[in-house]
Amino acid sequence: MSYFLCWNSKVALKVVNSVTSMGAANTNRFWSRYMSGRAKKLVHQYEYDLIVLGGGSGGLACAKEAVVNGAKVACLDYVIPTPIGTKWGIGGTCVNVGCIPKKLMHQAALLGESIHEAESYGWEIPDSQKIKPDWGKLVQSVQNHIKSVNWVTRVDLRDKNVEYVNGLGSFVDPHTISAKLKNGSERLLTGQNIVIAVGGRPRYPEIPGADLGITSDDLFSLDHAPGKTLVVGAGYIGLECAGFLNGLGYDATVMVRSIVLRGFDQQMANIVADAMVERGIKFLHKTIPKVVCRNGNGRYLVKYYNTETDVESSDEFDTVLWAIGRKGLVNELNLSNVNVETKADKIIVNNAEETNVPNIYAVGDIIHGRPELTPVAIHAGRLLARRIFAGSTQIMDYTDVATTVFSPLEYACVGMAEEDAIRQHGEDNIEVFHGFYKPTEFFVPQKSVRYCYLKAVALRSDDQKVLGLHYIGPVAGEVIQGFAAAVKSGLTMKILLNTVGIHPTTAEEFTRLSITKRSGLDPTPATCCS
Ligand code: FAD
Ligand code: NAP
Repeated sequence: MSYFLCWNSKVALKVVNSVTSMGAANTNRFWSRYMSGRAKKLVHQYEYDLIVLGGGSGGLACAKEAVVNGAKVACLDYVIPTPIGTKWGIGGTCVNVGCIPKKLMHQAALLGESIHEAESYGWEIPDSQKIKPDWGKLVQSVQNHIKSVNWVTRVDLRDKNVEYVNGLGSFVDPHTISAKLKNGSERLLTGQNIVIAVGGRPRYPEIPGADLGITSDDLFSLDHAPGKTLVVGAGYIGLECAGFLNGLGYDATVMVRSIVLRGFDQQMANIVADAMVERGIKFLHKTIPKVVCRNGNGRYLVKYYNTETDVESSDEFDTVLWAIGRKGLVNELNLSNVNVETKADKIIVNNAEETNVPNIYAVGDIIHGRPELTPVAIHAGRLLARRIFAGSTQIMDYTDVATTVFSPLEYACVGMAEEDAIRQHGEDNIEVFHGFYKPTEFFVPQKSVRYCYLKAVALRSDDQKVLGLHYIGPVAGEVIQGFAAAVKSGLTMKILLNTVGIHPTTAEEFTRLSITKRSGLDPTPATCCS
């Protein structure tokens, strides 16, 4: 028997044992049936059933799920250092320079607020006005956590029999990957299937002095306090970073080229920005940077101009943070060797994450036109592995993906923005239920409730199917996550308003949405329980 069995050795042994106990005719019939059922798992000329390029959220999920389903898998991961030399370990953007350090710094900022609130609840805090964070200690704690996750990830890969290769992968041909290793040597690996999950990295603007700025790739390990910071870009990253920097006591300014949070419901986006202004964050609207130069005092002079008024201005900052979007890491892949189609630094895939080359797939931030979010990459990676190795036909559903902007007063949503619903269904066919609300815990410390607002965008037809839910307030992600399942299950306003709330929470406000925008009634409640 000359077949080379490449799945899990225990399975192989069982199969070989049972085959050798059969007669010759049966044996042939067995193999032909086994081969057709397991076609993807029997390879003749490749070392691996699957090579994954990229050990981030999507790549790791795909690699581990493939092993669970019997595949022999190698996962390459390599981090090209930032222009100022920052680098990190396995796990990709989310763990090292994304969701995780961001959430920890957001939490650090919220805790600062809580210390002051605690006084109004009776805590005696000596010299509370002098309390300030120690940036060095914060960075150390955040980095310690990241290092522990890197370590657990490596152990997990070893335990699950995913071969981790710390090398920069590129295509030699559709089944051969070259891994450039840290010591400069090259290793060639061959695989039946290749999954590209290389994610993206921050963009730098094409202006003089751009290299004097840093990006989110550097911020979470910055070895000095950022001080007065200009954040260029008003997407997720811009608002979140400006939010926690301000919360930690640093002067923060957000430069907005066009609108805040493009792609999000614009009424909600503007409330998020207003809530940030109330906390002391400055916004330079309709403004783009022109040049950055280093001043004699070690600070950075940024010249910028307003595209509406054409007025040029300048200011000095300690740190300039570019948060102007991310580019897919396609350049390093030598895609010309395999002719995989790309569009704007991203890989084009169909709804099964298949590229135009039959054995090459892509998941996560590197694919074109999909949300750049960790759970999206993970879910898509897992489902892909099941389709390749377990005969599954389930494809990734990219609709109604819930998300949260961790601005100081958080914003979470699922489904359609009001303007998108109107564009798609017509204004007359959309009903928007909305309301301001007052979180109970805000009363004692007299925190501003001005921007605590939520709305449900629904069809106006009989059952009033919910198309989108939007919430600004504390723990927004925790509030919206469960409602996301309801929206995916076809939630209607009737069901929502017939749901009994949990009191006193802010999530229960969704069950009390009685005022429509169309009615023109005041959506401001008199008390917390009205
Ligand atoms: P990545 O996680 O980027 O992993 C790709 C890996 O491949 C990297 O390690 C990369 O170095 C490596 N690589 C690249 N090229 C090669 C190559 N040729 N060979 C080998 N390895 C290679 N998402 C959320 O859901 N919630 C959040 O709160 C959130 N916050 C974020 C905050 C910030 C500041 C940022 C930047 C992102 C945030 N995201 C958040 C987005 C989230 O991090 C990404 O969507 C997610 O990490 C994408 O996973 P991925 O597997 O596609 O790519
Ligand atoms: P983004 O959401 O695409 O926002 C980029 C911002 O930069 C926009 O405001 C854009 O303005 C502006 N911009 C672009 N080019 C510019 C230029 N040359 N000069 C000045 N401004 C410019 O990108 P991001 O904030 O970097 O985030 C990247 C992705 O990471 C997001 O799409 C998101 O999926 C993911 N992420 C998720 C979370 C989360 O889940 N909480 C957090 C962070 C990141 P215009 O609107 O004018 O184009």
